Amino acid sequence: MVCHLGLGANVGYPAYQLAAAIAALAASPEMSLHRISSVYLTKPAGFTDQPSFLNMAVAIKTDLRPSELLHITANIESDLGRERTIKDGPRTIDIDILVCGEITCERAELTVPHPRMRERQFVLTPLSEIAPGLVLPDGCAVAELVADDCREVRRLGRLAALVRAGRFAPEVCADAE
Ligand code: AMP
Repeated sequence: MVCHLGLGANVGYPAYQLAAAIAALAASPEMSLHRISSVYLTKPAGFTDQPSFLNMAVAIKTDLRPSELLHITANIESDLGRERTIKDGPRTIDIDILVCGEITCERAELTVPHPRMRERQFVLTPLSEIAPGLVLPDGCAVAELVADDCREVRRLGRLAALVRAGRFAPEVCADAE
């Protein structure tokens, strides 16, 4: 089964933390990396008095149940120093489970597809880059939810290139444009 994850970071060394999270996913024996999107510089949504984010999407192949996958992603978040403070606030790393094949579940600790992904261009834009034909279990096409003229989400390039250039922070990434 292909599962799609949304990753974001805006404090510490965001590009490094994204790379470390992807390396941890790749090192997990229960899954394999399938696709990795570009990195996007995005304006914070909800709680706006915080730095811009770096966001990306990753597709993995796994036979894990979504709850088992959440256990792994939560451990990766905590290994990378994630603390839950303000809702939608600054974060060293956030890993959201967006879509797990055709599976749906609706519990407080895990709702799949992710309940807020449809309104979030910072999720939809990288997701549709790696999965342009993705259709949600209810028949909704992800590409049709992507806004054409979204100024809040700007493609920066490949993560490896940012890390190689030492452009770890969103501000530095933006200034170097
Ligand atoms: P957040 O602080 O926004 O990353 O929310 C994390 C919390 O949301 C965790 O406690 C999860 O149990 C819960 N959650 C519910 N659905 C999902 C999902 N699809 N992906 C990740 N976390 C989820």
